[in-house]
Amino acid sequence: MSSFVTGQIIEARCTRCKDVTGHVVMACLDGVPVKVECRACGSVHKYVAPEVHARPRGERAVRVQGGHNRVEAGDATVKAEKRAAAPRPTREQQQMSRRMEENEQRWNSLVAGRAAVPAAYSMNGTFAVDSLVDHPVFGTGAVLELFPPDKMDVMFKDGVKRLRCVC
Ligand SMILES: [Zn+2]
Repeated sequence: MSSFVTGQIIEARCTRCKDVTGHVVMACLDGVPVKVECRACGSVHKYVAPEVHARPRGERAVRVQGGHNRVEAGDATVKAEKRAAAPRPTREQQQMSRRMEENEQRWNSLVAGRAAVPAAYSMNGTFAVDSLVDHPVFGTGAVLELFPPDKMDVMFKDGVKRLRCVC
């Protein structure tokens, strides 16, 4: 980070001109200008950095006094950033495929490599948590949780399904 010295001429946002103008640094604190004099209008005010490209958002709130212009400009920037990010339709798909991947990993850890022979699923069957179930449609799953009297969650390869059972 460059440091500034008193008397230096720098670009800063003038709170009166509401524009970026040349300013003379009147006072510095740790190399950061704290008080500047606008060379265009002569007003002395605290240093406001010229709005360069995307600065961390939190900083904006500090110097709203300059008027509404800055706030609106800030909002526009935020919106533009959002718009720039939006046209990626893959984000949801990415999330989805990530979820499916996690799901499969979870399923693998719960079901794959288990020696136990899965019990054939039946609505009238009774299943224990962690036991394996073989479902005609969903395949092999592991019982995650029982919801007495007649429901259970089973982890199948393509997700958790709530099935009927007797428990
Ligand atoms: Zn000015």
